[in-house]
Amino acid sequence: MSETDERVLFLGPTRRDAATGAALITGAGLRCRACASLDELCREVPNGVGAVIVPEEAAIGNGADMLRAAIRDQPPWSNLPVLVLTAAGPTPAARVKALIELGDVTLLKRPLEATEFLNAVRAALRDRRRQYQVREYVAGQARLAEELRDADRRKDEFLAMLAHELRNPLAPIRNGLAILQMADGDRAAVRKTYGMMSRQVDHLGRLVDDLLDVSRITRGKVELRKEAVDLNAVLARAAEAVRPTIEARRHRLIVTQPGRPVTVSADPTRLAQVVGNLLTNAAKYSDEGGRIDLILEEDGEAIVRVRDTGLGIPADMLPRVFDLFTQVGRTLDRADGGLGIGLTLVKSLVELHGGTVSAASGGPGKGSEFTVRLPKLVRARGGDAAERPAAAGVTPRRILIVDDNLDAGDSLATLLEMTGHRVEVARNGPQGLEVAARLRPEVAVLDLGLPGMNGYELAGRIRAEPFGKDVTLIALTGYGQEEDRRRTREAGFDHHLTKPADLDALAAVLRNGVH
Ligand code: ADP
Repeated sequence: MSETDERVLFLGPTRRDAATGAALITGAGLRCRACASLDELCREVPNGVGAVIVPEEAAIGNGADMLRAAIRDQPPWSNLPVLVLTAAGPTPAARVKALIELGDVTLLKRPLEATEFLNAVRAALRDRRRQYQVREYVAGQARLAEELRDADRRKDEFLAMLAHELRNPLAPIRNGLAILQMADGDRAAVRKTYGMMSRQVDHLGRLVDDLLDVSRITRGKVELRKEAVDLNAVLARAAEAVRPTIEARRHRLIVTQPGRPVTVSADPTRLAQVVGNLLTNAAKYSDEGGRIDLILEEDGEAIVRVRDTGLGIPADMLPRVFDLFTQVGRTLDRADGGLGIGLTLVKSLVELHGGTVSAASGGPGKGSEFTVRLPKLVRARGGDAAERPAAAGVTPRRILIVDDNLDAGDSLATLLEMTGHRVEVARNGPQGLEVAARLRPEVAVLDLGLPGMNGYELAGRIRAEPFGKDVTLIALTGYGQEEDRRRTREAGFDHHLTKPADLDALAAVLRNGVH
């Protein structure tokens, strides 16, 4: 609220009245400007006013027009209180009607008691204060609308970018299919094409994973699997994952580690994702042949720095690069773009770990540095950082797969057989039940969207059989939201995996998650 917002503009019936009235008002700790004429008063209204006080004779005839115009020019939230000092004795009804039409009018009959006068002024200002609350609310709504428009625009841009990014890998995959069809035993061509297609499918998978992650994180649905983790190992894992990207752009990666464990309580996969995203960005946003430093340090906290010699970030963008869908200088033809969600994920994941991340840059062309700070784990007395169990050998299982997508079911079966399991595939619910009765599977992997009898029902039917109590039921579905997971849990599934099946996740379930 500005200083003038609460002032009273006062035109007294006479100069002396004006002086006395104004003194009374300011004496009560209120602001008042005594005006010499209605003209002056009306000119002051746009500069801020809490209430106006005018004598009756100023508010009729031409004066009324002037006052009405000043009131009309107020913003829509305004209903300016007008106190009209009327002459002693009865005011003719027609005049009262004309005065009232001015707006929020209170008639004060002269002569007035000082307290009565001040009470009327205070009531008018209270009324005005409520109008200012409306003004703030309206302004807040306008800001919100602006923010929504902005978010909407960014979402539109994002959708265009997403379509573009998802389409990019499709062309080489389609070419790859054509090549494989024509390869005709040319093993070198097949191997090369296979490598290319795998890379592109991985890339697509990463985009979709990022999208799912960001939606889960923004809805607070991510659970960290925390354990005592040595950040040296996390850095090594992230560097390894990003090495192909770094090498493809002929960058030099220099890793500096303190030569002792730096232990934090964290989800190692998620932290590797954080460091990996920062390294990928350093590689993407540097001209070929750059230098990337990955540094692990510690003071009171564990600190990971990713520094590059690349494009840098303009100062005005630094605070915004972590916002969803934000990209500096976004164009649809960027060769190596992402979706503008990598840094949002980084920030959210770091904050979920109780840490902070910040960006610094000397400006365009001067490189960037991202710093992640994490609270160090205070070890329990005599405690050691958790040892990860050694990878156990595969225990062969009897596995039933039910999937109406022939390729999906068969390829999964082949992969599982190759790792030593006995697998049978059924195409629909009734068939699945039949095979289960014969195979007595230890594990059943069920697609949910089956024709006829869906996966939930099939799970229930298997569970109801005497042999079904101990079967480990795994739902395999395209839907990975918490709501979907809850449904599968309630239907009696032990595990929920999203398509395309992540073999590592399935292998982990087969290793550790079977009854
Ligand atoms: P993107 O998918 O576009 O890489 P991010 O959220 O990872 O999305 O990054 C947001 C934006 O921040 C990028 O588009 C890029 O403009 C800028 N940025 C991120 N990392 C760097 C970096 N190391 N150097 C220069 N700019 C960067």
